[in-house]
Amino acid sequence: MIVFDLQCSNGHTFEGWFEDGEAYEEQKEKSLIACPACNDTSVFKLPSAFAIKSSPVKEETSGHEKNMAEISKKLSEFVDKNFDDVGCDFAKEALKIHYGASEPRNIKGTSTKEEEKTLKEEGIEFFKIPLPQSSDTDA
Ligand SMILES: [Zn+2]
Repeated sequence: MIVFDLQCSNGHTFEGWFEDGEAYEEQKEKSLIACPACNDTSVFKLPSAFAIKSSPVKEETSGHEKNMAEISKKLSEFVDKNFDDVGCDFAKEALKIHYGASEPRNIKGTSTKEEEKTLKEEGIEFFKIPLPQSSDTDA
């Protein structure tokens, strides 16, 4: 849903809810949008005042942040389930796997900047995810 701030030719402003911008154009074309104050159907969209969903812009932002937290939580749950926790042996273990000395598998753990540099030099791919809780690593 999308909400537009609309104004009729008599200067009344009101909100109109639409499926999308196209639906607005269509309803306007058919004079289906009437001003709630005077029933005027020659309405126009006020510039740049619209929001997705019902939230005002401020809540929209925090909703987005909540989403990001949710995603990172999901990601961390996925990693918890599917990755072997090797703790601070991450770099060592990644190297072992890289050279076939260890069973190939998904691992997670912590590494120091120095170790990350080594891994990169060895061409080992790894990625870092933010930890949801502040029980941060001792990296
Ligand atoms: Zn009006």
